[in-house]
Amino acid sequence: MQKIDIYQSIDVQGNAIGESIKSKNMSQETIANYGFIHSVESCGTVDGPGIRFVIFTSGCPLRCLYCSNPDCRYLENGRKVSVDEIIAEIQKYKSYMEASGGGVTISGGEPLFQSTFVREICKRCRSLGIHTALDTSGFCDLESAKSVLEFVDLVLLDIKSFDPVTYTKLTSVAIEPTLTFAKYLDEINKPTWIRFVLVPGLTDDPENIAGLANFIAQLNNIERVEVLPFHKMGEYKWEQLGFEYLLKDTLTPSPKQIQAALDIFRNRGILAI
Ligand code: SF4
Repeated sequence: MQKIDIYQSIDVQGNAIGESIKSKNMSQETIANYGFIHSVESCGTVDGPGIRFVIFTSGCPLRCLYCSNPDCRYLENGRKVSVDEIIAEIQKYKSYMEASGGGVTISGGEPLFQSTFVREICKRCRSLGIHTALDTSGFCDLESAKSVLEFVDLVLLDIKSFDPVTYTKLTSVAIEPTLTFAKYLDEINKPTWIRFVLVPGLTDDPENIAGLANFIAQLNNIERVEVLPFHKMGEYKWEQLGFEYLLKDTLTPSPKQIQAALDIFRNRGILAI
């Protein structure tokens, strides 16, 4: 499996990502205390239960064709922040989180791309009694991820396709690390929500969805599956960055297509919404 950390990650063109960080000779302690974020959302309502403080980290080894945040592919696209700064900001919203059954969600980019930084945030939140959720593609170095998961209450795992060929066509990486990650979450009985983006003509093949549903049905830790309709909200960013947006002609799924996908999961006894 490809090892992912800020020193050893490789982009789809084979270029080292994070070289500029390495060249700054940052110590392990600095790496744990500082990280790179794209943005934050103080009152998010779609990334886990209740009202959530959502942190979008920068840096991601995937290249999803529908990515809404192509402007956070690299660590350097983000702003350098300390864990102390983030925690101070989070604490301002603690009462909203508590009253709504919410917490903090770390999303991206790919949060496990900065595992030591994310671990530190989750650890601090845990000590403050704040619920933590990790939104990840599962494409990561499992050993680094394990130490983060100790301090994570809920995982939002994006499985973008089940057919390996479609998965790679969509993301530019292999599906195996994500499936290994999913099995590990089951092994440690970590509460998990699966997220699946329904893209007409790409991920909507009933066999593909059935494969994913059969895989999920074997796991005991999955609380729900969220079927997310494909949208083009990030298209303008691709254009601004001079990247070619290959899903220009792809339509958003119809209510009937969404229902058909939901039925495949529900027919296997999975809570799908
Ligand atoms: S995993 Fe998320 S952030 Fe990374 S390319 Fe895919 S959609 Fe974009």
